[in-house]
Amino acid sequence: MNKTITLTPMMQQYMETKKQYSDCILFYRLGDFYEMFFDDAITASKELEITLTGKNCGLEERAPMCGVPYHSVDSYLNRLVEKGYKVAICEQVEDPQQAKGIVKREVVRVVTAGTNMNAQALDETKNNYIMCIVYIADRYGLAVADVSTGDYFVTELDSGRKLLDEIHKFSPSEIICNESFYMSGLDLDDLRHRLGMMIYSIDTHFFDDEMCARILKEHFHAASLEGMGLGDYNCGVIAAGALLKYLYETQKTSLSHITHITGYATGRYMLLDSSSRRNLELCETLREKQKRGSLLWVLDKTKTAMGARMLRSYIEQPLIDRHEIEQRLEAVEELKDKAISREEIREYLSPVYDLERLISRVTYQSANPRDLISFRNSLEMLPHIKYILTEMHGELLQQICEELDTLEDLYQLLNESIMEEPPLAMKEGGIIKDGYDADVDMLRQAKTEGKNWLAQLEEEEREKTGIRNLKVKYNKVFGYYLEVTNAYKELVPDYYTRKQTLANAERFITPRLKELEDTILGAEDKLYALEYTLYCKVRDRIASEVLRVQKTAKAVAKIDVFTSLALVAERNNYVRPKINEKGLIDIKGGRHPVVEKMTPDNMFIANDTLLDDKKNRVSIITGPNMAGKSTYMRQSALIVLMAQIGSFVPADSANIGICDRIFTRVGASDDLASGQSTFMVEMTEVANILRNATSSSLLILDEIGRGTSTFDGLSIAWAVVEHISNKKLLGAKTLFATHYHELTELEGKLDSVNNYCIAVKEQGDDIVFLRKIVKGGADKSYGIQVAKLAGVPESVIARAKEIVGELSEADITTKVREISAQGSETKARQKKYDEVDLAQISLFDTVKDDDVLEELKEIDVSNLTPMDALNTIYRLQNKL
Ligand code: ADP
Repeated sequence: MNKTITLTPMMQQYMETKKQYSDCILFYRLGDFYEMFFDDAITASKELEITLTGKNCGLEERAPMCGVPYHSVDSYLNRLVEKGYKVAICEQVEDPQQAKGIVKREVVRVVTAGTNMNAQALDETKNNYIMCIVYIADRYGLAVADVSTGDYFVTELDSGRKLLDEIHKFSPSEIICNESFYMSGLDLDDLRHRLGMMIYSIDTHFFDDEMCARILKEHFHAASLEGMGLGDYNCGVIAAGALLKYLYETQKTSLSHITHITGYATGRYMLLDSSSRRNLELCETLREKQKRGSLLWVLDKTKTAMGARMLRSYIEQPLIDRHEIEQRLEAVEELKDKAISREEIREYLSPVYDLERLISRVTYQSANPRDLISFRNSLEMLPHIKYILTEMHGELLQQICEELDTLEDLYQLLNESIMEEPPLAMKEGGIIKDGYDADVDMLRQAKTEGKNWLAQLEEEEREKTGIRNLKVKYNKVFGYYLEVTNAYKELVPDYYTRKQTLANAERFITPRLKELEDTILGAEDKLYALEYTLYCKVRDRIASEVLRVQKTAKAVAKIDVFTSLALVAERNNYVRPKINEKGLIDIKGGRHPVVEKMTPDNMFIANDTLLDDKKNRVSIITGPNMAGKSTYMRQSALIVLMAQIGSFVPADSANIGICDRIFTRVGASDDLASGQSTFMVEMTEVANILRNATSSSLLILDEIGRGTSTFDGLSIAWAVVEHISNKKLLGAKTLFATHYHELTELEGKLDSVNNYCIAVKEQGDDIVFLRKIVKGGADKSYGIQVAKLAGVPESVIARAKEIVGELSEADITTKVREISAQGSETKARQKKYDEVDLAQISLFDTVKDDDVLEELKEIDVSNLTPMDALNTIYRLQNKL
């Protein structure tokens, strides 16, 4: 760094600072601008589309430079942060006029995607999380915080898959980790590119276990980790400590709004893996990634940002504890029944601002006077809400009522101190109300009434002295003075002090005039400074009540969620589900909450679902494409999930056995982006399901085995059903949609398997979808009819019919026999399936091995089940 020797002093200071924040774009305050230099300037000018200039820096060449004005810095900052940059903000920390030499500057905050507090950059209905992951000895410690609300959670996991489930649940915008996390083998590129998360490792010193434990104890004023409920989370504590330290270092505040840390075991909630979350379209749709069309879209009628965030988190983590679920249902029921009170509450909730984010800004000392007025207006609603809540009986509603602190002291303070319509700026006055502080009143009066006082003084002095043309005048050099023309010179009293003599007049001051002058001239400066001081005091007073405010904010969020769920239940004709722990799922007249909203009035056909631990463990569902199989399966899963978040459900009646997990394997379109073959993805998911499901899980399997040849696919599907339905192996409740009609044979063989199909009616050459699920297997695929409905050209349809006719002449086993008998080229084509897999069948075209032929000849085909036939084919194939 020889170069720095020749740099100007300011640039030396810049370089020093930049060295400490080398991974950030440095916003360096110079007067009214934040300037960037060198590579930062080149990057920022490109990303922000601002002009790149240069600055003399002492070197031969000018330093590349660009800048943004301080008053509009937020929008530039947000844009860089959104693009994944870290920005360090370096401010002047001393008054430039008082500075000796170069003005002292310091980085006052580092802003990143996960720590941005700027209201414009945040979606108020979503938390903005930063997550810290440590990977130590095959375990994952995980801590996650939302600095804009003060939420802070910690847990620990023993597998990468579970970790991914948690990452998808919180969906953080930024993940920091230790180096070893990169070795854990997780697919971080997917998180980075598909989900746009920022992931990077931080220095090892953040993960020192003693430091981590100490920093947590100090921050939360706790004597021990056990006392904080973190005794069981060794790795979790390291993640939490590292995250806290990282936040201290970047936020550079005391983080006093992070008042709680909540340790949670992932087993407290229903486990949902990432593909199930996506498939069930809980908070966004699969394709467009938008809220409209998701479950959240149907359920969210919340009035506040806090309520919206809480509802989202309820949907992201359904409960598994019966008592907790019943408590929520009870609250929803009471609010549904007491419609008038509910609507009143909702009206009072309407003007309530985001108390959580407001109080965070208050503790960050970045809340402006208008924020405080919004805060006050919100507080005004609380007593009304509480009053209505006192009339409620349910356990949970009473608890919320208790938790809801009406914060009247803070309301009063704000009401007395802050003007109704204050400016955004904090140092230009106009903030403090009249009557709140005597000095402010006096200064304000001085500023506005100064002229009157001077007129009054002039009048008084004229009377006292008899100088009739005495005048109070002002100039920059002397300030205010009294001017007496020479004619009245004799009348000047002793207490006048002469300041200046002119040709025809003399100028004087008096102690009283001096006093007024001080008051008037100093008034504005003093007033602004005093108002700012008082404003800070009020803000700090509110900041000191952060705990009470946060608790109240959570209570408001809950009541908002329950009133929303109650309203939705009423509007959509939902019923309260019964909850059982016997594993029975009995839904009568169930509907898909989203599809019914998208279907014209009353056109949605309701269906029953019956699953239990005995005779009805697995439902094999057949029916043509477009019949409604996946809608039916998803609706069943969604009804279970809704019940477990404490919502009423779209059905005539529902009895829901609590599920520990819901797994879905539906379609494959969403996996294309990840680059694996669809079949591989499908099988990886099946493997995951079979390994991790329990007898209390609900499985939704759509078209398992579709991505490979018919024989392989059918065999796999068959074996999967056998495995799932066997109580000793798994015994999970399952809805299994398939094109393989052969699977319907399982009904007779396994007593927990039942066949259902979705009815269609034939009308001449066409079919009509009845959308009704009935007992029994479908006997036809109607693939061609569906193709016709979809608009496939008539000539293709006609040809397809011909081919089906040919193919239908023999069944597969006979066909195989034919192949073996001929031992030569075969025209074998499979029958029955609407998806003809000719390529795969050509496998059998060149059977040469005599042993195989012999064995084939021996087979007694008429006594062979389809499964045996398939197994035999496999064995034979392997011999070739
Ligand atoms: P499949 O999975 O059998 O191919 P889908 O479940 O995708 O069929 O359903 C096809 C379409 O039929 C859906 O887009 C939906 O609009 C409609 N549909 C499905 N079930 C019903 C129902 N119960 N009532 C009314 N319309 C339905």
